[in-house]
Amino acid sequence: MRHFPIFLDLSGRQVVVSGAGECAVSKLRLLLKTEAAITVFGTSPAPQVLTWAAEGRIALAERPIRQGDAAGAALLYAANEDEAEDARAAEIGRNDGALVNIVDNLDHSQFITPAIVDRDPVTIAIGTEGAAPVLARKIKAELEERLPASLGLLARIGQAFRDRAAMIPMGRKRRDFWSRYYSGEGDAALKAGGEAGARAKLDELLTDAIETRPRDGHVALIGAGPGDPDLLTVKARRLIHEADVVLHDRLVPQAILELARREAVIVETGKTGYGPSWGQEDINALMIEHAARGAQVARLKSGDPGIFGRLDDELDALDEAGISFEVVPGITAASAAAAASGISLTKRGRNSSIRFLTGRDVEGFAEHDWRELAKPGSGAAIYMGVKAASFLRGRLMMHGAEAETPVTAVENASRPDQKTITTTLLALPDALAAAGVAGPAVLLFGMTPRPAAKATEVAANPIHEKTGVL
Ligand code: SAH
Repeated sequence: MRHFPIFLDLSGRQVVVSGAGECAVSKLRLLLKTEAAITVFGTSPAPQVLTWAAEGRIALAERPIRQGDAAGAALLYAANEDEAEDARAAEIGRNDGALVNIVDNLDHSQFITPAIVDRDPVTIAIGTEGAAPVLARKIKAELEERLPASLGLLARIGQAFRDRAAMIPMGRKRRDFWSRYYSGEGDAALKAGGEAGARAKLDELLTDAIETRPRDGHVALIGAGPGDPDLLTVKARRLIHEADVVLHDRLVPQAILELARREAVIVETGKTGYGPSWGQEDINALMIEHAARGAQVARLKSGDPGIFGRLDDELDALDEAGISFEVVPGITAASAAAAASGISLTKRGRNSSIRFLTGRDVEGFAEHDWRELAKPGSGAAIYMGVKAASFLRGRLMMHGAEAETPVTAVENASRPDQKTITTTLLALPDALAAAGVAGPAVLLFGMTPRPAAKATEVAANPIHEKTGVL
C-alpha cells in the first residue's frame, strides 16, 4: 500500500486550488462537501467557479497563485491543466507547508483524492493508486451490488497493461476501453481463462479500440423521475453514468447528479418559470454544440421528459441539426404523488380517464376545457398549479364544479420533505397558503388519499388539521 487512506479533518482549515477551469471544477465539487475554507487562484474562471464565488462558497482571486498564498493551508490542488503552471503551484504549496496534489499526476503528488461515496456521516473512499480510475468510478456507481471476488486481480492485470493501453488516444476512447474491460468482459474472461484469459481479452479490446472510429455524438433525453434516485430507470442510471455532458433542469436533485462521472461536464439549465431562466434556444444550442463535438449528452428532465418538458422543441432542434437521440421515459410527478397518497390515478366508477394539465403556459395562467373538467367524476393531475390555485378554483366553479370536490396536493413527491395536503376545491388556495407550499407540487383534482395515508399525514403535520377540510 503506497497511499495510506486517512480521513483528514478540514473543518476550519484552508484548502487552496490553483486553476479555475473545468479540471478545478471537478475537484471543487468534492471539496465543497467539506467544511474547509476554499480559495481558488486562476485567470479566466469557469462559469461554475464564478457562481460558487458569487454564492460565497469559495474565495476567488482572478490571478495566478503567488508564494505565500498557501501559507497555513492544509492542502493545495494544482488543477491548471498546464504542466508548467502546475509545477510552479506545487512548488509554492510545498514551500508554504501544504500537502500538494497535482491533478492526474500521481508521481508528483503527495496525496491523491479517492472516489467518494457520500452517505454522510458514513463516507466510503475508494482509491486505486492511480491504476484504474475507471474502475474506481464503477465501484462507486455499483457499491450496493456485490463486488466480484476477482476484482483485485483484474485491476492488477489491467494495471500491468496501462503502458500498452496508452496506445489508445486519451479521453473517451481510452475510457471506453477500460469501461468494457471492467464492465464484465474482463471478469468473464478471467473466470473462463484465468489471468492469461484476461490478458488476451485486453489485447482483443485494445485492437478493437484502435480499429474502431470514434463514436458519434448522441443525446439521450432522460426522465429523471420525481426526485428519489431509486425511482430512476436502470437505463437512465446507466446513461447518466456514461455521459460526457449532463444538462439538467433545476428540479433534478444532487443525489441523481452524483451518479455522473467526476469528469462529466454538468450544467444546470434552470427554467424556474418565475425567476431568471435559460431560454429554450440556449438549451438547444448547448446540447447541439456538445453532441456535435462527439460528446455523449445526458439531457435530464424531471419526471417524464414528455410531460410539460418542452421535449418536442428539443427533439426538433436535434433533428434539424442531424444529431442522433433517444428518449428515456421517467416516472412523472403525478404518478409519484398518487403513489405517495395511496391513490389510483384512474378508478372504475370514479374516473375512467385522467387529464394532465398545467396551471401555467407561456401566456400566464393556462386555459382548458373547464366545462369537461367541472363534470362530476372527472380527474386531473395539475402541474405548476400552486400559484394558479385561485384562478383554477374560479374557472372550475364558474363552470359548475362542486365546491366540495376533493383535491389532494402533494409537494416534493418522493423526496424526503414530501408533504400531502388534503382539501377541497373551495378551500384549495387557503390550504396551500396555510401549508406554506414552496417546493414543486402536483394537484390531484377529484381525488382523496386513502384514509390510512391521510391519517398518518395529518398526525405528522399538525398544520393540516386546520386545512384538512375533508
Ligand atoms: N416533466 C415533469 C414535469 C415538469 S413541469 C414530470 O413529468 O413530472 C414542473 C412541475 O412538475 C412542477 O411545477 C410540479 O407541478 C411538478 N413536479 C415536478 N416534480 C415534482 C415533485 N417531486 N413533486 C410534486 N410535483 C412535482
